[in-house]
Amino acid sequence: MDDLRELLHRVADVTADYRAGLAERPVSPSADGDSLAASFGGPLPPGPTPASEVVEELVAAADPGLLASAGPRFFGFVVGGALPAATAADQLATGWDAVAFNAVTSPAAVAAEGAAGQWAKQLLGVPGTASVGFVTGAQAANTVGLASARHHVLGEAGWDVERRGLVGAPPVRVVAGEERHATVDRSLRLLGLGSDAIEGVRAGPNGAIDLQDLERVLGDGPAGPLIVCLQSGNVNTGACDDLRTACDLAHSHGGWAHVDGAFGLWAAASPKYRHLVDGVELADSWGCDAHKWLNVPYDSAFAMCSRPTVHVAAMSYTASYLVGSGVVPIGGDFTAESSRRARGLAVWAAVKELGASGIAELVDRCCLLARRFADALAHAGFEVANDVVLNQVLVGFGDDARTDAVVEAVQCDGTCWMGGTTWRGRRFMRISVSNYSTTEQDVDRSVRAIVRLAGAL
Ligand SMILES: *Cc1c(COP(=O)(O)O)cnc(C)c1O
Repeated sequence: MDDLRELLHRVADVTADYRAGLAERPVSPSADGDSLAASFGGPLPPGPTPASEVVEELVAAADPGLLASAGPRFFGFVVGGALPAATAADQLATGWDAVAFNAVTSPAAVAAEGAAGQWAKQLLGVPGTASVGFVTGAQAANTVGLASARHHVLGEAGWDVERRGLVGAPPVRVVAGEERHATVDRSLRLLGLGSDAIEGVRAGPNGAIDLQDLERVLGDGPAGPLIVCLQSGNVNTGACDDLRTACDLAHSHGGWAHVDGAFGLWAAASPKYRHLVDGVELADSWGCDAHKWLNVPYDSAFAMCSRPTVHVAAMSYTASYLVGSGVVPIGGDFTAESSRRARGLAVWAAVKELGASGIAELVDRCCLLARRFADALAHAGFEVANDVVLNQVLVGFGDDARTDAVVEAVQCDGTCWMGGTTWRGRRFMRISVSNYSTTEQDVDRSVRAIVRLAGAL
């Protein structure tokens, strides 16, 4: 026992030192893949190694290969950091090794998910009667939401897809914006609907769904089972679909409206940005990440459904030995996973740590800092390609090759980290401000680095 105590103290120190060092550590890893593979590699250990040695070896091997994505000057993808209480709660979840399958395997985890799920719905503007599954990410949330959609729209056509599968089923129309996230396509593949089923809808100037084109596409196709995939937070531009109008259109054609709100749905938590997701409550299912903008450690997201019975019918299973399941649906009845870590604990802790006002401030601050990036880089003479409505900024540095060169130079430099993207056929630097610890100074320091590196090319 004492060994474990010492080990956990040691790991707490390593973690805290790492976090404290994030503000100054180069954001890019110092080691390349080959040297990391060599550090981790070697023959299969023929026998035991003391745990303390294992941990020291692990820290030494991993540290040079860490991308400082938890830090304040990481602006790649849409990656949040990890709030202190949420980080600690996640370590407790691991320490307790609780299985969040149901109320028998972990009453505490189920209660935490219940409370955190209620809070999440309030923050995100989702009806309080909706069901919530705690899944690994928005990919999983989209899969669960679209599985619920598939169940419901085929059920209305007299087809029980859970029992009969898709062979011989009535065709399902899937209508989705052409700037949807690629995970929607993968979810549709996994659900047997296939990416060819997607009827694309044009995007408006900033990447939100074009409502007139949505109306046209919906009107052009046959009546019957219909799923409409909407988006809050275009992964390039941050643009949010007009959910009120789009959900109404979907419903007037008898369709199910699913919202991929991986990061953008958090706009609902801020009185200043809530208008971007106006009508969110009208949708039938929602996916939203906790590990992005809520700054919960990986991996953590919500799959929410307006009809809990549909959600459960699409996802749950039971077995003779599963004491505690099958009466009141909980935990694993809302997810594609069976045994799960108690990831709801960290969500509970994050919401408790910030509270509603702190989460609103987090959203507002990130959006303001994104604006600050856009203004400063435009002022320096570079092209800001999107309308910065949320926390995403697209910057062009001339032609594609030059933009890619700037992105690469920034990543090598290590002051900050931004990714590249292709939007509407052109290459851009993509900046996402999603970390709770990012300050104005971090943005200004990053801008100085970008300007310096772009100027030197
Ligand atoms: C990040 C993202 C996803 C995928 O989320 P994961 O958490 O990586 O599974 C889906 N949709 C959008 C809009 C995203 O930004």
